[in-house]
Amino acid sequence: MRLIARSIERGRLGHAYLIAGRDRAALEQTAAAIAQTLLCENPPRRAADGSPAAACGACEGCRLVREGAHPDAYWLRPEGKTRVIRIAGVRELERVVRLHPARGGWKVAVITDADRLHPAAANAFLKTLEEPPGRVVILLLSLRPEALLETIRSRCLRLDLGGETAGFSEAQRAWIEELARAASRRPTALGARYRALGRLLEALGRIRQEVEESVREASGTDPADLEPEQRERLQAELNAAAEAEYRRRRNQFLQILLWWLRDVWLAAQGLGKETLKLPDLAEATQRVATALPPDRARTNLEAAERTLELLETNVQEALALETGLLRLDFGE
Ligand SMILES: [Zn+2]
Repeated sequence: MRLIARSIERGRLGHAYLIAGRDRAALEQTAAAIAQTLLCENPPRRAADGSPAAACGACEGCRLVREGAHPDAYWLRPEGKTRVIRIAGVRELERVVRLHPARGGWKVAVITDADRLHPAAANAFLKTLEEPPGRVVILLLSLRPEALLETIRSRCLRLDLGGETAGFSEAQRAWIEELARAASRRPTALGARYRALGRLLEALGRIRQEVEESVREASGTDPADLEPEQRERLQAELNAAAEAEYRRRRNQFLQILLWWLRDVWLAAQGLGKETLKLPDLAEATQRVATALPPDRARTNLEAAERTLELLETNVQEALALETGLLRLDFGE
C-alpha cells in the first residue's frame, strides 16, 4: 500500500483504481488495506525503513474498516441469483460518496466483481468515474478485468496483483529482457540500447515473414494460373491483408514494452514486486525505477503509447522505433 501512501503524501492520488487478480479474498484485502491507508486516524509518518507507512491498524478508523463498518468506506457487491450489479446499486454508491465524510477524511467506494456491472449500470457510472467528487477514491476489483467495458478500464489506474505473463511469447520475453538490462546499466551504454533495437527489428522481421507466408497459403490460389491483370489484383489484395495482419501482430508484440514501462512506473512509486506484470525483470525494473521520479516514468509510458499510435500511420517503421526507443528516459 506504499503506492497509495506515497501518492497521498505527494498529493497526487489517482481517484479510480482497477485492481485485478486471481484471488477474490486477496483483492478484497488489498481494497481494505487501501481504505485503511486513506481512513487511518493516526497514520504513522514513516515506516521503520524510512518509506511512507500505510495505516496504524489500531485506531478507530482502521478498526471500522477491518470490520466492514466504516461509514466512509462503501462496498458495492453483486446481488441476487444473477450476481449482477444493477443501476440502483451504482446510484446508491454515487449518493453515498457525495455525502460529507462522516469521520472527516476521505470517502472510499469499493466495487467488488466490477465485471458484474450491468452495462447500463456501468454507463451510468462513467461520469462519476471520470470526475468523482474531491477526496473520493473508487476501487474496482475484478478477477476478469478483460470483461470490463473499455470505457471503464481506460478511466482507471490499473494494478495487477500477481504477475501473469503466460500471454507473452519467448521472443517477446527475450527482447524485453534485453531492453530492461540495457536500460538498467550504469553508466549508460548506448550500444546496448542499439542492440535491443536490433533484436526488436529482427523479431518483427520474423513476424512479417510468417504473416506473408500464412497469407499466401490461405489464399489458396496459384498466381501462375491467373491472367496478368487478375494476378496483379490478387497480389495487391494479399499485400493489403498481410500488411493489416502484420500491424496487428506488431502491436501485440510491442504490448510487452507498455507492460514493462508500466511496471517501472509502479516501481517508481514505491509499489512492491507483487504488483509487477513482469516479476522476472524485477531487479532491472527496480534499478531503473530508482533513478526515475514517477512523473518521468509516466512520461515514458505515454511516449511509448504515442510511438505505437504513430506506427498505425504510414510512418517508416525502423525510424519510428529507433526514435521511440532511444528517446525513452531511463534516468541516466
Ligand atoms: Zn489507523
